[in-house]
Amino acid sequence: MKVFKFGGASVNSIDRIKQVANILGSYQQDDLLIVISAMGKTTNALEKVAESFYAGKKEEALLLFHQVKEQHLTTAKYLLVTRYLECEQTLTNFFTEVEWLLHDKPVRGFDYYYDQIVCAGELLSTAIVSAYLNETGISNTWIDVRDILRTDDNFRDANIDWSFSQQQVDRFVKPLFQKTRHLITQGFIGATDENESTTLGREGSDYTAAVFANLLNAESQTIWKDVAGVMNADPKKFPDAVLINDLNYSEVIEMAYYGAQVIHPKTIKPLQNKGIPLYVKCFLDPALPGTVIHNQPVNHLPPIIVIKENQALLQLKSKDFSFVGEKPVGQLYHLFEQLSVRPNLTQNGAISFTFCLDDHPEKIQQLALEASDIFDVTVEKGLKLLTIRHYEPGLLSTLIGENKVVIQQQTPDTVQVLMKQEN
Ligand code: ASP
Ligand code: MG
Repeated sequence: MKVFKFGGASVNSIDRIKQVANILGSYQQDDLLIVISAMGKTTNALEKVAESFYAGKKEEALLLFHQVKEQHLTTAKYLLVTRYLECEQTLTNFFTEVEWLLHDKPVRGFDYYYDQIVCAGELLSTAIVSAYLNETGISNTWIDVRDILRTDDNFRDANIDWSFSQQQVDRFVKPLFQKTRHLITQGFIGATDENESTTLGREGSDYTAAVFANLLNAESQTIWKDVAGVMNADPKKFPDAVLINDLNYSEVIEMAYYGAQVIHPKTIKPLQNKGIPLYVKCFLDPALPGTVIHNQPVNHLPPIIVIKENQALLQLKSKDFSFVGEKPVGQLYHLFEQLSVRPNLTQNGAISFTFCLDDHPEKIQQLALEASDIFDVTVEKGLKLLTIRHYEPGLLSTLIGENKVVIQQQTPDTVQVLMKQEN
């Protein structure tokens, strides 16, 4: 049994959905649980629907939702012949659920409505892809993941109830492999014990796939992406970026921590707990080797480069020249938690505490304001943070180039340089 995951970019056009069928054609003999995301930018579009609805702009919300409907109906029309009517009925049922809600007035928190609306993206995409695969002879069973993955009601960042979900997988999912070898389900979403829909955090479909891999004791998980595999740098910024064939879980967690957009960080733990290897394969050219991520040590990694733009630097100095000790630092971390921000680099001095974080203007303003009770605060914006794992001195100075270094920190493994962006 293997788990596959296809992201939004793998199902964002007729041709790409056909490519999913091509890929699956080579796995007809395998039991597969296939997790699929919403098509292309659907989740962003549905977020806008939720925002309009919550702002009381019902007509705007309905209009925005109408566009999402049209896109899905058009895709289904182009793809399907014999199963079109049946699929249209399924899509219409999902549309109606959202529209009923949009006609109400919001009485609960935003995050609750967000989840009830945004979850439609994955329900719609999987319904279409499942119908198309069945029509082309890749017989599969569509599963509403909300019947299987139970979560708490921490909307927009819900936590899996592992033991209940395990029971559901054993009772309902495993027997389905007797019926069809391929099962299709949604990434990113789940449901509470009161049948409210929940979401697991943006880009959460990788995580869903890992949860299933764990619960099914899968032999492997494969994430199909529109890149060749995991690269040592973002190829859009570094044309010489190279593919890394072999990685281990801890390196991937480090990469994600420093901001590399490889794999959703929550994905690793469920796999690591059961020693399940994770493959990252190229969706457009499945013959390419891709990357395998496992538990063994890996030697000779190339330098791994991560750049985070738009960093804000906050410098806090104690007002009375007292040392910045545990107490004020503790208060600061409490503030970070309240505002859900995470510093990307911190430096503690005798009478100062300095850190940089992603530039979310409102949060920074609030942070600066609250910290000014105990500190003198200065804020500097427009910085970028370079992180290199397994660095070489030559590469470091090339990448710093003409930029002005504001802070540099290094360990034997990792160097981080906060610098002023070149104009
Ligand atoms: N559709 C969701 C998102 O765009 C989940 C995912 O793609 O993994 O965030
Ligand atoms: Mg996605």
